[in-house]
Amino acid sequence: MANAISRRNFLRGGLATAATVAASGVVLPQAVQAAQGDELCTVLDLSKCIGCEACVDSCRETWQDTVPDPVSPMPKPFPPRVPTQDWSKRKDVSDRLTPYNFLYVEHLDFEHKGQDVELHVPRRCMHCVNPPCTNLCPFGAGRVEKNGIVHIDEDVCLGGAKCKQACPWHIPQRQSGVGVYLDIMPSYAGNGVMFKCHRCLPLVKEGKQPQCVQVCPEQVQSIGLRPQMLAQAEALARQKATEDGADPERWRDYVYGLVENGGTNTIYVSPVPFSVVSAAIDQAHAELAPGRGKGQSEAGKQGGKRRKKGFAGRPPMHPVANSMESAENLTTALVLAPLAGLAAGFTKIFGKKPPEQQPPSEQGGQS
Ligand code: SF4
Ligand code: SF4
Ligand code: SF4
Repeated sequence: MANAISRRNFLRGGLATAATVAASGVVLPQAVQAAQGDELCTVLDLSKCIGCEACVDSCRETWQDTVPDPVSPMPKPFPPRVPTQDWSKRKDVSDRLTPYNFLYVEHLDFEHKGQDVELHVPRRCMHCVNPPCTNLCPFGAGRVEKNGIVHIDEDVCLGGAKCKQACPWHIPQRQSGVGVYLDIMPSYAGNGVMFKCHRCLPLVKEGKQPQCVQVCPEQVQSIGLRPQMLAQAEALARQKATEDGADPERWRDYVYGLVENGGTNTIYVSPVPFSVVSAAIDQAHAELAPGRGKGQSEAGKQGGKRRKKGFAGRPPMHPVANSMESAENLTTALVLAPLAGLAAGFTKIFGKKPPEQQPPSEQGGQS
């Protein structure tokens, strides 16, 4: 492991710089650009990832400064027990999701079939096909573009964190003291803005690839139209199953994101089954918080206190049922739809407009 880390740090320094310099505008394939109305999907071949974190660095360099700093002092929320969350003094944190860090890499060492395995898993928003974070936002701040990109409208978000509760991976992260609520009723009408990966929407709109796809020195991620990418993922997973000594018909065991939460536009393919990857992630997370849930299974620890804490910005890779199939969520979404439209209009009219989310040219804890 020590060797792996030093190799990673070495690679990170060199490759990240080289890759970021090279990634000034790699374009999407012609066929993808021509079909901007169709859903885009990414496939991540985890067997290629060397854990260098060039993708993380590039995402941060491109987007971190688009997340504003909070006002000081921050408005006191009402009731006072409502927590404020301020990551503005910890922007350097890159080993978990924060409002200022949309992507991190989970580094895993485990044993599989008597062999030591080192696996690196980049984690960010899955861009669900039917995203509960968007469907259940009471203020209508969630957006799903025709190309499948799921993002949060900062002009509308009041930071209530319903999206984070609704997301099975608790991906969106709150920064308090920023956003439109400051211009409405700062102590009563919000708590900041929720931030997450927006799949580099401004770049994709220009026909470019997302930064983390562009800069990867190992071409771990590929992006394209959903049907082709699903076919690519299946072919790759069949190969991985065969190489792992399994029946290729068991290829779905080597895929994550295809059916999770009803299907996502982020498909991971692993050289080992995801039940093994998931257990390794649970183990790694349990080691980050020793002493929790004494006497429980690792899954129990994760499903208990850690789940309540929102996985502390490090999502697991458990099987996830389709949350929008639940009658309760469907009903809530139907009830909220018109109200969300009204609320969005209200915040648009009465709130100030934060800066446009553009790749900056020259700009300058909690769960
Ligand atoms: S992973 Fe979570 S935040 Fe991302 S689209 Fe799905 S529900 Fe929303
Ligand atoms: S797609 Fe863009 S915003 Fe999302 S993790 Fe990659 S670089 Fe960051
Ligand atoms: S996805 Fe690519 S850039 Fe990111 S850690 Fe893996 S090898 Fe490095």
